[in-house]
Formats: sequence, structure tokens, C-alpha cells
Amino acid sequence: MIEAIQFELGDDGILLATLDLPGRPMNVLNDITSAAIERMVQRVETDPAVLGLVLSSGKKDFLAGADLEGIRDIASAQQAFDLSMVMKRQLRRLEKSGKPAVAVIHGMCFGGGLELTLACHHRIAVDGARLGTPEVKLGLLPGGGGTQRLPRLVGMQTAMPLLCEGGEVRADKALAIGLVHALAPSREAAIAQARAWCGAHPKAQQPWDAPKFRYPGGDSRSPAVAQMLAIAPAMAAAKSWNNYPAITHVMSSVFEGGLVDFDTALLIESRYFAACVVSPESRNLLNTLWFQLNAIKKGASRPKGVPAGKVGKLGILGAGMMGAGIAYVSAKAGIEVVLLDTTQAAADQGKAHSQNLLDKALKRGRGSAEQRDALLARITPTTSHDALAGCDLVIEAVFEDRAVKAEVTKMAEAKIGERAVFASNTSTLPITGLAAASSRPARFIGLHFFSPVDRMPLVEIIVGRDTSNETLARGFDYVLQIGKTPIVVNDSRGFYTSRVFGTYVMEGLAMLAEGVHPRSIEVAGLQAGMPMPPLALQDEVSLSLALHVAEQTKKDLAAAGQASFEHPGLAVVRRMCEIGRLGRKVGQGFYDWPAADGKGGTGGTGGTGEKALWPGLTTMFPLAPQQPAQRELIDRLMFAQANEAARCWQEGVLRSVADANVGSILGWGFAPFHGGVLQFINAMGATRFVARSRELAARHGERFAPAAVVVTQAETGGRFAD
Ligand code: NAD
Repeated sequence: MIEAIQFELGDDGILLATLDLPGRPMNVLNDITSAAIERMVQRVETDPAVLGLVLSSGKKDFLAGADLEGIRDIASAQQAFDLSMVMKRQLRRLEKSGKPAVAVIHGMCFGGGLELTLACHHRIAVDGARLGTPEVKLGLLPGGGGTQRLPRLVGMQTAMPLLCEGGEVRADKALAIGLVHALAPSREAAIAQARAWCGAHPKAQQPWDAPKFRYPGGDSRSPAVAQMLAIAPAMAAAKSWNNYPAITHVMSSVFEGGLVDFDTALLIESRYFAACVVSPESRNLLNTLWFQLNAIKKGASRPKGVPAGKVGKLGILGAGMMGAGIAYVSAKAGIEVVLLDTTQAAADQGKAHSQNLLDKALKRGRGSAEQRDALLARITPTTSHDALAGCDLVIEAVFEDRAVKAEVTKMAEAKIGERAVFASNTSTLPITGLAAASSRPARFIGLHFFSPVDRMPLVEIIVGRDTSNETLARGFDYVLQIGKTPIVVNDSRGFYTSRVFGTYVMEGLAMLAEGVHPRSIEVAGLQAGMPMPPLALQDEVSLSLALHVAEQTKKDLAAAGQASFEHPGLAVVRRMCEIGRLGRKVGQGFYDWPAADGKGGTGGTGGTGEKALWPGLTTMFPLAPQQPAQRELIDRLMFAQANEAARCWQEGVLRSVADANVGSILGWGFAPFHGGVLQFINAMGATRFVARSRELAARHGERFAPAAVVVTQAETGGRFAD
């Protein structure tokens, strides 16, 4: 039998139980752990030699959470309910055994791991431990008693944000809020403290099993809590637009659980847990942000058979916004960076970006001055191409201009070794065309970063016509090396992310041209689950840039003898550009951006400092007498993206469904609860997607005509699958 827990009974009668799931780097809750917990509880209950229990982990972390494969396989609400009751009954028996149980927590202690420790009578956290209930981020709720024990321990007001936002707390904060009882400098010291605690408390009981138990800060009936609970759903909805039912389920479980006895409360929690598990939102989130994301990180899109590569020295051409950001994230990963620009001042300014970020972090108590200095010492700002000698990889981030890019490619290639890879960070220019300037196009690739580089988790890797598998593998390994998520796509205009993202913004602008109220458009974007509404986004990106790209594309297509389609949204961009409302960078676009420097946000005029929709918009684009329903607007925004992604699939721009989904969420914030842009179609079903697309096409134009690939799926019962 595989044993997930090792037992050691000390002379003091304390049973030391060490969680150590064989063959896994981390402890997780699964059938094997569950069986081991059952044996542990039984032994505490029945073995007279056992006077108390100390539970700790033999791995680097305590326990990461439930095994999500088990959750994915759940087929019905009843099954979910039963599964959660199994663990609850075990934990209930442990805390009611009459013998003391102490948890020693080190490293990560999340989800089911935290719930396990909450059923112990005493918790000791080792310095650096991190505790939390992240379930809500995957559309779930803690189903092992977490929504009942946590509020009874720390109070509803403290528990609610932890449960609803899925954040984590460090050991010292956990002590401050009463989540743990003591801290220890090491696991060994904590175990010694735990033994002593057991000795001193031979008959332990949970607070909620004491006859006079009261919630700290009051229960669901107390006026202060009732007031908080009355506004909490509205506050959550203001952020989530009611797209995440798990948040309301958590609140309901906490609130209703606070009206009844503890054992009934556990049943209530299991019902809400079941509702979460079978919700489409949690299925979508798990599918993409867990299984597909993990598959990507394990190299699903990386060519097989190429040995793992590592970049020791990186050259960056262009120390502007993007180059400076790439330098920072690379130096942070321990890579030597040569940051090259046309003047020393520009190169130095690029390096100063890292200094700024590090100084800010230091002020917030993150990192040390030594770490900052070591990172900065790895960045060499220069104007000399000779410094590129010995680079394993060079990334160009110069102006978006073919001639400039061709020139820097040639100059760099003259200095770097035969095996070095050359990458372009272009956002719009096809890679195969840029590779024409290269003397070794097989070693030429696109590495498309997103701005701001230090915060955006995705890099879109673009494979040109001649890019070799080895080059792709090395690009892929570099992206993982700097801690980002790579998706791999084939070359085409706008690649994948910019092309699909563009349809969202353009659809919003088309609505404006039709006379839809700008406020309705913006709200529709947020209701759809997008992080930013279309008009605000266009202001951020800049209207002049959008126009420049559109015109460049038109010229390129004309030169290639191809017709170009003009999106109705583009006319809006033109008119706004004509009157100089170019977006946030000039302080005015669809919005007025109050601060004089165009950065908006703080200070500013009018007392609020907040951006506000430009009142002139409705004069320039008069309102239609009849305004459409919000559902129509939301569907337009979402179907435009999904249909374009389906076209990318059918044209072979996309190479994997996982890359499409993960790229859409991490790249441009496609509503996560849909599980990504192709999962949007999968979850709805091709038949419904095609039918609704045709309705939209009839009303709003041929651009909504469903992609042929989805029409075929509807006819044959297919779906997007890797
Ligand atoms: P930027 O204007 O901030 O920086 C470009 C830098 O390149 C400048 O510092 C300039 O001095 C330098 N440069 C110009 N010619 C050079 C040469 N011959 N040799 C060395 N350096 C030279 O531009 P950016 O926003 O950082 O964009 C750079 C590239 O990244 C562009 O191709 C752009 O399309 C792409 N990109 C931009 C974004 C974005 O959000 N800004 C996102 C993804 C990709």
C-alpha cells in the first residue's frame, strides 16, 4: 500500500504524522492522502497509547491543495457533495477526538491543506509560511469546512475577503489575525513547541464546540456583520459583474452557516461546493488556467528532442519602453544583458527603468539593496555592437520600421556567433518578411512581449517560414527561463493576439459610429468580463498608432495584390485623429484624461482626477433613437473575438487550443470565466455559436459570419481540441 503519511509515536505519547505523498514534488489532497488521513484519525481515536497528534509535512511545503484532476472528473452535483462530506467527516472526528491535534505549517499551505490544519486545535507557522484559500480563483470554494471554520476563528469580516479574493497571508499576518497561534523559526522548533502544547493541553476542544461559543466580531445576526454582508455582494458585483458565481456562493455559505449549528453549517457548505464544481465557470477556469496552462509550462508546444537551452548572455537592440522592460525581466532571471541604443544616454535611460522598478520594490519592503545592485550589475548599457559578441540570443526592440529593423539585424549578425538566435519583438510586421534581412533565417524568430513587460505574464512566440525547430525550442526555453508563459503561433499579419484583440476594440468603435451610447459600450465591455472597456483601451493604445497600423496593413496588402477589408470602427479612429484626440498620451481621446501630462489618474482637474468620457462624443456620433439591449452589445464584443480566433485556427496561425485559450486570457485579458477564446465556442457548442453568429451577421455585417471551421464542427459534432 502507498503510504502518504509516516507515523512515529514518541515516548511522550505524541504521534508525529508526517505528510509525504510518494512520487510527487508536493503534497496534494487525493484518494491516497484521504485514505492516509482516515488511518491517522482512526489511530488517534482508538489507540490508547496516542495522547496527542502533531501533523507536519516532509516536503518543502505543507500542502498545495486538492488534486484538481479529481475535481475535473466529478460528473454530478451529488458526487461533489459526497466527496466533500468524506473529508469533512474525517476532520470532524479529528477535532472531536478529545485528544489535542497541532499542525506545524511551513511553506505553502493552501486550500484543502489549510482546511486540514483548521481542524487541528492549534497551529504553529514556520517563518515564511504562506496560507490561503485560492479556490475561488478557479471558480470553487473551500469544501472541507473552510468557509465555516475560518469565520468562526478569525471573524466574518476578516474571513470574507480571504475567502472571496483567494489571496494569501504570510506567517506573521496569519498570527496577527488569529489564523495561527504561534510562530517558530524552523520546522524542528515548531514540532518541539507542538509536542509541548499537546502535553499542556491533554483535552483539547475547538472553540466552536464549546457551549458558549461566539463568533469573534459577531455572527450573521449581529448588526455590524449584517451591515457588512448587506453591501458585500454589491461590492463584489461591482468588480466581477456577477460573472463569478463562486464569490456569491462563498458569501452565502459563510452567511447561512452563521445562522445554524456547526454540523448543519458543514452540510450547507457542501451544497455550495457542489454548485461551484458543476458550474460552467469553474469548468472553464480549471480547463484553461490549470490544465492547459500546466501543459504549456511542461512544454506541450515545444518541439520534442531538442536539448534544453539556457541563455547566459542576451543582447537587446533598442532601450526604449520594451527593450528596457525585457532587460529588467532577463537580468532578474540571472541573465547577463547588453542593452544597446543609438546614444549612450538612451541606453542608460533604458537601464534606469530597472533601477526605478527595483527602488520602488525596495520601498515596499521587497528584495534587498544587494539584490538590486547585483541585478543592475548584470545590465550593460552601450552603443557598441562589439559588446554583442558571445550573446546566445539577441532581441531587437527598435522602432517599428522595416528598414531600421533590417539594418540592426545585419549589424548584430555580424557580431554574434553562428549558433546565436535573433529575435524580433515586432508587434505587427510579419516575421518571415523581417527574416529576409537575416543571413540565417532558420535562426530568426518572433518573441512578442506585452507592455508593461515586468507585469505581463505572456510572450507570444512567432514561427517564421524558415524558423527551425531548434530555434523555436531555444526561444521557448528562454521565455520559461524568465518566468513567463510562452504560446507558439505561426507567422501572419498581427500574429494571433494583436489580431484578435483588435476586433474587440474595433467592434466597440463600430458601435459608437452607429449611435450606441458610449457609456453602454463601455459597460458592455466590463459586463462581458473584459478587464478594460473598448474605448478606454483604444485611448491607452493610442488612436494614431491604430491608424498607422491600419494604413500600413492596407498598403502592404495592396502591394501584394490583395484586397483589404475596412472595419467600420476605423472611420471613428480617423475622425478622432483629425481633431487631435489621439488618446491618453495627449490627455484626450474618447475620454478626457485630467492630468496635464496625460498620465491621468491622480491630481488632475475637477477634483476627482478620474478620466471621464468626453462629452463631445455624443455630438460627434449622435445617439440612435433606439438603443440596443446590453446582451446584443456583449455578444458582439465576444463573438467578434471568438470568430477571429476561429479564423486564426482555420488559417493555421494557431497551433494549439491550449495556446489560444491561455494566450487570450494572459495576453489581452479575455474574460477568464469563459476559459479563453476558443473555449468560449467549445462551452457554448458549435451549433449555438453558428446560429447566433448568423443572427449577428444579418444585423451587423458579414464580419460576424461564422468561421468555416465552426460551421463544420456544428455539422459534424466537432469541437476545438489538441
Ligand atoms: P520605443 O520608441 O520606446 O523604443 C525604441 C528604441 O529603439 C528607442 O530607444 C530608439 O532610440 C531605439 N533605436 C532606434 N533605432 C535604433 C538602432 N538603429 N539601434 C539601436 N536602437 C535603436 O518603442 P517600443 O514601444 O519600445 O517598441 C519597440 C518595438 O517593440 C517595436 O517594434 C514595437 O512595435 C514593439 N512592441 C511594442 C509594444 C508596446 O506596447 N509599446 C508591445 C509589443 C511590441
